[in-house]
Amino acid sequence: MHSHSIKDLLDLPELNVRTIQKEQDQVLIKVAPVDVTQPCPVCASTQTIRRGTAYVRKVRHLDAFGQRVYLLLPAIRLTCKDCRAHFVWLYDCVAPKKRYTKAFEATLPKQAIGATITHAARLSETPPTTVHRVVRQWMATESVLVQNQCAQQAKASTGLVLGIDDFAIRKGHRYNTGLHDLRGGTFLDVIPGRTIAELQTYYQEQPIWQTLNPVAVVMDLAQGYHTFVKEMYPDALRIADRFHVNRYVTDALQMMRKHVQKSLSPFAKADLKQHFRILGKRHDQLTNDEHVILNRLLGYASLLRQVYEWKEAFIVWYDCSPTYTIAQRSYKKWLTQGEAIGHPIIETCLKTMHNWQEEICNYHQLRFTNAAVEGKNNKIKALQRRHYFTRNPACYKQHILLECNEEWIQYGS
Ligand SMILES: [Zn+2]
Repeated sequence: MHSHSIKDLLDLPELNVRTIQKEQDQVLIKVAPVDVTQPCPVCASTQTIRRGTAYVRKVRHLDAFGQRVYLLLPAIRLTCKDCRAHFVWLYDCVAPKKRYTKAFEATLPKQAIGATITHAARLSETPPTTVHRVVRQWMATESVLVQNQCAQQAKASTGLVLGIDDFAIRKGHRYNTGLHDLRGGTFLDVIPGRTIAELQTYYQEQPIWQTLNPVAVVMDLAQGYHTFVKEMYPDALRIADRFHVNRYVTDALQMMRKHVQKSLSPFAKADLKQHFRILGKRHDQLTNDEHVILNRLLGYASLLRQVYEWKEAFIVWYDCSPTYTIAQRSYKKWLTQGEAIGHPIIETCLKTMHNWQEEICNYHQLRFTNAAVEGKNNKIKALQRRHYFTRNPACYKQHILLECNEEWIQYGS
């Protein structure tokens, strides 16, 4: 192959290919600059003279044909005739003193996102310290770019719907709040903590979020979030997240199952315990076998059957309410159906359902849920497991922003 064809493949216009040799699993490409001379970095004079090559730099470049590729770059010494400064040839493709070309370094972040530094280091056959340095630097700038783009999209959106949900840093110990653009499908920010005070403090520091104009905000039934949103976005519709709300009802059903279990025969008790998941599943998603089991389980106690029907009625209410007005009316009916069961377990649940009926019914004004948010929270969970826990909070946040907005990342060269 002619060396100029190799030059095209190499895609580094500043370099000419001299020779190519293969050594074990490495390809060594001896190169030289295309230009004869380089202007002085001190006075910009073009009156410079070459004073020979001090040594040859071995610089890792992009792999080819499954082989590691190294460029052998001469370290050319030069002297400026005008200001007498001595300097070494500066290449565009690699920073001074570095052992990897910029193009090679640009491939590392892609391997580290969704994985670990160790993994990326092994894949690229590069020292972990190098991958770490490159990825850290890249994350710091790229996360800001990605966050800005997502923020701009949210600001420009006419029907912006925000999602607010907490996620555990350490379960039961520390929580953060995620701010999401549900229509745009982006993760906007990580807010430290989840109390009103913490949210307010953060919003003071980040005025951009105050300027958003959401038509609705979806969140769970945490009073703090609702009070905060009422203050911050008074015009926004507050929607209780469907899946959080539904969990209250399925939890009540399981509590009821545990309650009726106590007074049943050992067989019935074991049967209920073994198949408790079938009770929690949506009726229309049961298999034929599960239908048979369900009928047996509900046969054990009429109280359980009543609660099960009440749980299913709630799913139907969510799925099949044609308008907001009808939804409001049938919600009241559903509450009455629950009251008719007349059991303290259900009454406790109904109290919550009663207190939040406005926010729950608002779902039928704008059918958004935090389902996508849960997906992102799972990503964060996986990220935290991979990294145990990240000590540097800035780095932790950058990582979350990138990992949850992956399709916005531009792996430049
Ligand atoms: Zn000079």
